[in-house]
Amino acid sequence: MTAFAALGLSPGLLRAAAELGWTEPTPIQAAAIPPALAGRDVLATAATGSGKTGAYAFAALQRIDDIARPTPRRPRVLLLVPTRELAAQVGEAVRQVERFLNVPAKLVVLVGGLSINPQLMALRGGADVIVATPGRLLDVADKNALDLSGLHTLVLDEADRLLDGGFADELARVLALLSARRQNLLFSATFPPAVEALAQRLLHDPVRVDVGQEAAAVATIVERAIVVDAARRTPLLARLIAQEGWPRVLVFVATRYACDHVADKLRRAGLAAAAFHGDASQGARTQVLADFKAGRLRALVATDLGGRGIDIAQLPVVVNHDLPRSTVDYVHRIGRTARAGAAGLAVSFISAATEGHFRLIEKRVGRRVPREQVPGFEPTETAAPAAAAGGVKGRRPSKKDKLRAGI
Ligand code: AMP
Repeated sequence: MTAFAALGLSPGLLRAAAELGWTEPTPIQAAAIPPALAGRDVLATAATGSGKTGAYAFAALQRIDDIARPTPRRPRVLLLVPTRELAAQVGEAVRQVERFLNVPAKLVVLVGGLSINPQLMALRGGADVIVATPGRLLDVADKNALDLSGLHTLVLDEADRLLDGGFADELARVLALLSARRQNLLFSATFPPAVEALAQRLLHDPVRVDVGQEAAAVATIVERAIVVDAARRTPLLARLIAQEGWPRVLVFVATRYACDHVADKLRRAGLAAAAFHGDASQGARTQVLADFKAGRLRALVATDLGGRGIDIAQLPVVVNHDLPRSTVDYVHRIGRTARAGAAGLAVSFISAATEGHFRLIEKRVGRRVPREQVPGFEPTETAAPAAAAGGVKGRRPSKKDKLRAGI
């Protein structure tokens, strides 16, 4: 008996795991699949790279395989995700698994940034599994194209992200559309108060699964912190990419303006770099990602919004050119590297002004990252008093900052 079989998976899904080349369940899969298969609600701490998608996809799909699916089909599983990129990846993962069911499941992906009509067309004749971002799901529901009253399982993936940035209202409206009697699986990398509150409201006697974050964030990601003057970060980045031979780097900055600016400076330093904008057209984003994956681009510069959900196998290095505002964002950023056991490197640039903020992040994640200096880039700045007190860019954290930071 394989380790997957011990989890209670059906022969079809065991074949799916074998086909995917998965020989051992990841810790999150081992802990979450059995209770989810038993119909329990699950509250899981799981970062990107932990194998969480497999955990919920296997369990939710196996459960609908056992029940009759009349025509037209009614959605039985709803997978809610915060971004269209993540929706595409989750959709792909479901496709890889659903064909191994006794009755293959029909999947429809509903995401913004693309014309709604093909998505409405795809829903004709019903669907078994919906992968969606909340905004587009609501648009589709407003057109009476979706009946979610027969739902068996709701999955919230990256729940902290789903509640971030003003999406809480959309999420609440989606939840109001669902059948009351259903299973809920909630996955989140971090648990700020808003996620805890959501879990309280939504989950019924959940099984808590708490292995993902440590497994993904500590075991396989090497974190480095390099102290450098703010003005010299981009030249340092260009130097490190060349000197350390980083084949592919995802660079995080604070603003869209900085995206263009840093990408531009890297290009002038002779590196193939591009900005990755949250608000660029879907076509442009897809092209940039394809170039990055194919190795035609060496550095991608993104904001947290743009970089959300970027899931690239073998993304070896993530750089925090600007520090993230919150610990949630820090965990998500570094989770872009080190997928499922592969080693990854997360480098943060720290200046005198951001040292206090980084210390706060270290405190929240419960780790201390040794400070380094790079010869030729030794810092000359000293801390401003406000920054030393833990503020962001010289100001005290607002109530919203604190909320986002999970303080
Ligand atoms: P996730 O955390 O769901 O985004 O998964 C991260 C990556 O791990 C994906 O590329 C999966 O294909 C891979 N993966 C998931 N489960 C396993 C497993 N049991 N063995 C090997 N790779 C896995």
